[in-house]
Amino acid sequence: MKNVLLIYTGGTIGMIQNPLTGALESFDFDQLLHHVPELRQLPVSIATRTFDPPIDSSDMDPSGWAKLVRIIADNYDAFDGFVILHGTDTMAFTASALSFMLEGLAKPVILTGSQLPIGMLRTDGKENLITSIEIAAATRPDGTPRVPEVCVFFHEKLMRGNRVTKSSADEFDAFESFNYPHLATAGVEITYNDDAILTHSPSPLTPNHSPKLTPHYALDTNLIIFSLFPGIRADIVREVLSSPTLKGVIFRTFGAGNAPQKPWLVEQLAEATRAGKVIVNITQCTGGSVAMRRYETGLQLLQAGVVSGRDSTVEAALTKLMFLFGQGLPSDEVRRQMSLSLAGEITLS
Ligand code: ASP
Repeated sequence: MKNVLLIYTGGTIGMIQNPLTGALESFDFDQLLHHVPELRQLPVSIATRTFDPPIDSSDMDPSGWAKLVRIIADNYDAFDGFVILHGTDTMAFTASALSFMLEGLAKPVILTGSQLPIGMLRTDGKENLITSIEIAAATRPDGTPRVPEVCVFFHEKLMRGNRVTKSSADEFDAFESFNYPHLATAGVEITYNDDAILTHSPSPLTPNHSPKLTPHYALDTNLIIFSLFPGIRADIVREVLSSPTLKGVIFRTFGAGNAPQKPWLVEQLAEATRAGKVIVNITQCTGGSVAMRRYETGLQLLQAGVVSGRDSTVEAALTKLMFLFGQGLPSDEVRRQMSLSLAGEITLS
């Protein structure tokens, strides 16, 4: 029998409506399990841990991620897989952060949640939870884990955690992996896309790709996500880029990584780069990749020292910067590693 550790952080899946205010509030984990008696039918032994108190995922932060890493690292040898119940709002950030913090991960870590609380008649939570547990316990014919990486399972789709974005606030089909194929599809059967699944977490920090788990806890949050728009002002951009504590910027550009051809913008970006700040170019489009050599409007950014985030999601690029600066690496090394795939988060070819 496989052992799965179910970690409950909070989120809609475990919420109930406050009769006085009508707002959704978290309720305790035992009640959540009470609503899914089907779990007993799974040929899996399930142990549980819970955040006390459970949180709405808007309150998730790097200390919560470190807590999750600690729980997984402390229980790594005792379990075959891990399922994290999490609010959907920041699930893509958490999945991305964990993919970097759990270096050398060789077991499944599946994040899931729901759009409707598990106690509601039309809930999507039951199916998401039950299938996630099945996937966390799944093995290949040789007994090794089927999906040894951080994933999000939602509405019949298993996706790489650092490739997902929350794409709908209302629909059950709430997540998409725009730039990477799904790892599995859950229909009548769970069909795995083995070619897309990592066999281990590749990382330049472990050049021999050791399957040994090396948990990381330190993250640096001296960062900002900064989005371009037509009419953006020089004085405001200068104010942001010259902030003395700022170490890195996720710079959200147009199309294939383009920005207006304003000398002040290029000069300010070049100046920030010279000051050791790492500026990462991520497109505002949901799908596709940054290609700074395609247009003059992108080339000027490359010449100013801006690093290509390629086809990374904002969530993955941001948490990767947090992780790399958290290692105490100098800016040049952070820039270099932003161009590498640490956990399958970018497409290199
Ligand atoms: N606000 C909730 C959360 O992210 C929404 C959800 O779980 O879907 O915790």
